[in-house]
Amino acid sequence: MPKKRLQIKDSQVKKNLKWYILRLLRLSNRTKQKLIDKLHDMYIGYWQVNNELIDINLNKITDEGLIKYSSDKYQITEKGLNALQKKEKDIKRYHTRRFSKEACASYSLWGNVGLSALEFIIGFLSGSIGLIADAIHTAVDIIASAITWVGIKINKEAQAALIGGIILCGIGVFIAFESITKISQPVEIHFQTIALVTIVINIAVNGFFSFYKFYIGGQKRSISLIADAYHTKTDIWSSVAVLIGLLGATIGFLMLDAIAGAVVSFFIIFGGYELIRESNKVMHGEDPKLEKFSKFLKTHLEVLPERGTFVSLWFFNLQEMTKKENLERVKKGFGRRFPIGLKDEDYESIYDHIEKNCLIESSQDSFRITEKGKRELKILAEMPIATNIGTQRKFMDSRKINWFAEGL
Ligand SMILES: [Zn+2]
Repeated sequence: MPKKRLQIKDSQVKKNLKWYILRLLRLSNRTKQKLIDKLHDMYIGYWQVNNELIDINLNKITDEGLIKYSSDKYQITEKGLNALQKKEKDIKRYHTRRFSKEACASYSLWGNVGLSALEFIIGFLSGSIGLIADAIHTAVDIIASAITWVGIKINKEAQAALIGGIILCGIGVFIAFESITKISQPVEIHFQTIALVTIVINIAVNGFFSFYKFYIGGQKRSISLIADAYHTKTDIWSSVAVLIGLLGATIGFLMLDAIAGAVVSFFIIFGGYELIRESNKVMHGEDPKLEKFSKFLKTHLEVLPERGTFVSLWFFNLQEMTKKENLERVKKGFGRRFPIGLKDEDYESIYDHIEKNCLIESSQDSFRITEKGKRELKILAEMPIATNIGTQRKFMDSRKINWFAEGL
């Protein structure tokens, strides 16, 4: 099977083209051909530069007074600079509002309350033990995190985790018992479609929250959010079991729903066991959450030299600059989006890698990309990466280019 090549379509570029042109012109005045060359460089050749699309944009922003054309070159106007500045302020505001620890924790809490309520209602209406079990699971998870939270506040984390763990195990055993009884006397599921939609919504929302918590937890280096993200990730599997049970019941295997209930109870008991184990570790002076977090941190820092090299070279490929200028741009366009919050010493690993491999060379007081660096850029762009939720994709895509360009 031929390997699928990376290709970026006009539609993926269109929305941001205006801003790219303004950013490139802020760096220096350029002829139309130079502008086209730079846009080609931004996409490392993966976008077939569409001249017509560029003409439309150039005419439009000239009419808006953001750029002007004189003696063969385009240049950005005062109005254009202001528009760009406003855009950058908006991006910054967006980041501070959406990407705070508190916002993430509270969205996740209210999201879970909503999901649990929805599952309870649909669970009782449809008679699905799987759905009811999953609703109880979500509800006890909320209670367990509340107890943990109080425990941290009053400095009795180990005791709080122990209490939470025992509650989880007790409820898990109760649901297991109920489900196993129902396996021999299965009941028909009503409102099958609504029940299926409910559990699919649950899986989607939990998938989103797992990703969101990994992201914010990493960016803010929050140990508790990362632990929570891992938990949410396991919760998804419990909901998938419910989905399979409901699908089975829909095509006539009624007992599958009861089996799903038993699977959910296993996840609850397992969660309780984890909490009890955690409590035991804390009592012995260990910090299990920190251990998990360190592992998470390590996996991301391991790939930093490669990912960061791509972004740093991407800027050097667009223009010669000093290392300091390059670092500032990498921080702005990449650091803000990297799955973990980066410190100054983390960035050093990037430049070590670049210099050791001769990917840039000095020219007067600044640096430019070498031929070897250009080849490396192409290789890194096509490199597959694994995401937190287990899917794989290529490192470079149009969305990433947009992020990096925020540093321009
Ligand atoms: Zn759970």
